[in-house]
Amino acid sequence: MSNRTVPNDLSAFWMPFTANRQFKKAPRMFVAAKDMYYTTADGRQVLDGTAGLWCVNAGHCRPKIVEAIQNQAAELDYAPAFQMGHPKAFELANRIVDIAPEGLNHVLFTNSGSESVETALKVALAYQRVKGEGARTRLIGRERAYHGVNFGGISVGGIVTNRKMFGTLLTGVDHMPHTHNLSKNAFSKGLPQHGVELADELERIITLHDASTIAAVIVEPVAGSTGVLIPPPGYLQRLREITKKHGILLIFDEVITGYGRLGTPFGADYFGVTPDIMVTAKGLTNGVIPMGAVLVSSEIHDAFMTGPEHVIEFFHGYTYSGNPIASAAGLATLETYKDEGLLTRGAELAPYFEQALHSLKGERHVIDIRNIGLVGAIELESIPGAPTKRAFAAFVKAFEQGVLIRTTGDIIALSPPLIVEKQHIDTIVETLRGIL
Ligand code: PLP
Repeated sequence: MSNRTVPNDLSAFWMPFTANRQFKKAPRMFVAAKDMYYTTADGRQVLDGTAGLWCVNAGHCRPKIVEAIQNQAAELDYAPAFQMGHPKAFELANRIVDIAPEGLNHVLFTNSGSESVETALKVALAYQRVKGEGARTRLIGRERAYHGVNFGGISVGGIVTNRKMFGTLLTGVDHMPHTHNLSKNAFSKGLPQHGVELADELERIITLHDASTIAAVIVEPVAGSTGVLIPPPGYLQRLREITKKHGILLIFDEVITGYGRLGTPFGADYFGVTPDIMVTAKGLTNGVIPMGAVLVSSEIHDAFMTGPEHVIEFFHGYTYSGNPIASAAGLATLETYKDEGLLTRGAELAPYFEQALHSLKGERHVIDIRNIGLVGAIELESIPGAPTKRAFAAFVKAFEQGVLIRTTGDIIALSPPLIVEKQHIDTIVETLRGIL
């Protein structure tokens, strides 16, 4: 069977976050990709308006990355992750630290954003304990947050459909309100003006539980998966001040905002706020091989390095942490970003992207448009009694017309690869205009 033949029986694969029965009646299949385009099973080109799932930041099948993976697979396919090493994992950690905000000097490797979130939460809890603050066990997340699908992540996350089926989750978790406010901020360009005071809700939560019980606060600098919720100016700074004042760790989940999405290497750079722990994945390997990286400050790392030297300092890790092929992919990805200036290219294109997107204001059903860097969202009015249906219909139509968009609820999210050109932005926007 050629690798481009679609099997007749699609029933065995229970697809993730997919309406399986609907999909299998009318499958949408990609069989190849290059740069900005996918190729479908029936031979059509589809412009990638979403960098896959917010991850293919350098575009598809880039030669340096492909070659690095091929060579690594032939040279050293796997090395045990525990009590053994291989050079590329150390090299990649160094390269990540080179581009990270100052002070985040140590890297723990994982295989996904979800694992990175769990790792970050566990580091935070363990850090408080090794520091002698073991009563700090509470974790604070935010409404409408997406932190992956594992138990820690859905506990601090704020999406009810991802939480309600799974019991009591982690206890000792509280949530700040989200910052999305259409009545005050609709059609904002860049950061919305209203809502900085919502950061003070953290003070209220701290007063309720007492700071001495709280280990960490986790937020996405820009919430991506729930429809591109952009913080008002000063909001993240305020969270930083409050957490610092109370000895609470601040974790940024940069799974989407990391590696150039906002026109800066990380969201932390865009907002000028450095967290204590930074969660990354997706763009680290250009989405090509599963890998995540959690960055921590020296203060956190060093607090663990105090016991007898023969004792493992942190009882955590994965069979595939720093896997050789993933490390090779990560190194080649970061080189590609550097060679092509992709970590800051979004800043050059952001004004054009903003203008193009906002030209859709006034089209039918559009109740908000928002943007930051190379991320944008178009929020549609829901069909009464049938939320998600309108945006999903737009998604299917766009796919048929050769553009891949992403929808969440009735929000269309756009996040093209960072190699996108103006003409691609025009195609995405004009296709959407036709559909709306
Ligand atoms: N955190 C954030 C902010 C994300 O956007 C995502 C995925 O979209 C995740 C975590 C989970 O990543 P993964 O799907 O690789 O587990």
